[in-house]
Amino acid sequence: MTIEQERARGWSDATRLVRYDACPGDAYRPTATPLYQTATFAPDDLVADESDSGIGDAPLGPYDYSRSGNPTRSVLESRLADLERGARGFAFASGMAAIAACLRFLRAGDRLLVGDDLYGGTYRWLAHAVAPVGVEVVRVDTRDLDTVRRAAAAPGATTRAIWVETPSNPRQESTDLAAVAEIAHGCGARLYVDNTMLSPILQRPLDLGADVVVHSATKWLGGHGDLTAGVVIVRDAAIADEIAFTQNAEGTALAPFEAWLLLRGLKTLGLRVERQQSTANLVTDFLRGHPAVVEVFRAGQGDVRSRAIHERQTRGAGAVLAFRTGCARTSEAWVAACRLFATTVSFGSLHSTISIPGRMSHASIPEAERERHGVPPDLVRLSIGIEEPDDVVADLQQAFASAARDVAMARAGRA
Ligand SMILES: *Cc1c(COP(=O)(O)O)cnc(C)c1O
Repeated sequence: MTIEQERARGWSDATRLVRYDACPGDAYRPTATPLYQTATFAPDDLVADESDSGIGDAPLGPYDYSRSGNPTRSVLESRLADLERGARGFAFASGMAAIAACLRFLRAGDRLLVGDDLYGGTYRWLAHAVAPVGVEVVRVDTRDLDTVRRAAAAPGATTRAIWVETPSNPRQESTDLAAVAEIAHGCGARLYVDNTMLSPILQRPLDLGADVVVHSATKWLGGHGDLTAGVVIVRDAAIADEIAFTQNAEGTALAPFEAWLLLRGLKTLGLRVERQQSTANLVTDFLRGHPAVVEVFRAGQGDVRSRAIHERQTRGAGAVLAFRTGCARTSEAWVAACRLFATTVSFGSLHSTISIPGRMSHASIPEAERERHGVPPDLVRLSIGIEEPDDVVADLQQAFASAARDVAMARAGRA
């Protein structure tokens, strides 16, 4: 069954992620995609002219070399393109490799507008590799459309792209993608959206006007904390050719085994997101009712405007949330006291994880900037897993009690 036939049946994404042709064209009709753990493929026609077999550019058959293309990766890439409603998908060795591939088209003198609370690694890449070659990287609050409009159309600027993460990490604030797409297209620029936080089950930026979507598939898409991968999905053929060229020329494609693992993880994406999101709802309620918590951050629960955008462009708030205790020391004691939650960077995995972004994922952002962009030292981020919901809430509860004791004892010791 082709993807078009699947779509014509009206099946939802969650269904089609489980029920699809695992290996189109395979004579044995396997129900799971085989792992083509091979570097090379023998050409059909051995007398083909060697001179135009130039690795990757003019493959002899459908596949010749796994850097250029591999059947396991192809199945994955077409599933990913379908999930985001794009024309083509590309799998990379990590989210950062995918992001770097997207930005290769920029030249000295071009302007790139980026959201002001991006993932720390994206920030580092832009500051240390993109800006130094002469690309004008301008950070803007992408939620403020007037600012975006002014920065995009500034006299003398050649704005080529706008880069947005929504909801932002860790504060979970929403950017209006349709409105930013209109601004980008109005000045001939492309809109890139890092959709890692919600996954295509909950938000599809291409439907809202974005040109390119990227993911760190290390998070929700993989979902098991056992691989790193990145994804680019485009709907325009010219951009697809550009990404395909970079993926092959730089050799940053996802290896066959990781592609196979990611396909396996993807099958349960719908189920995982549903369970993790519903437990995150319970955790949000618990935190909001707890006297030690001064502020909770969850997608779609900010101000009225942010709520309206969230409701329009997503199908849920996901399972990442953050909160503040008002005291860095209490937050640290609390994180240390959690038993079920593993203290790790990253999110979107099966297991519940907890982190202090200011010390972990966002540590590559200079300290003064961190505070200015909403990552104070007492901010704690949670990613809710698939464990039994009661166990998750009970762990948070016991950690609060224990943190309160630790901080009281430390204060008494000092007195
Ligand atoms: C983790 C992450 C990345 C980077 O992806 P890797 O797979 O770690 O290279 C990019 N963007 C966002 C929003 C992320 O959370």
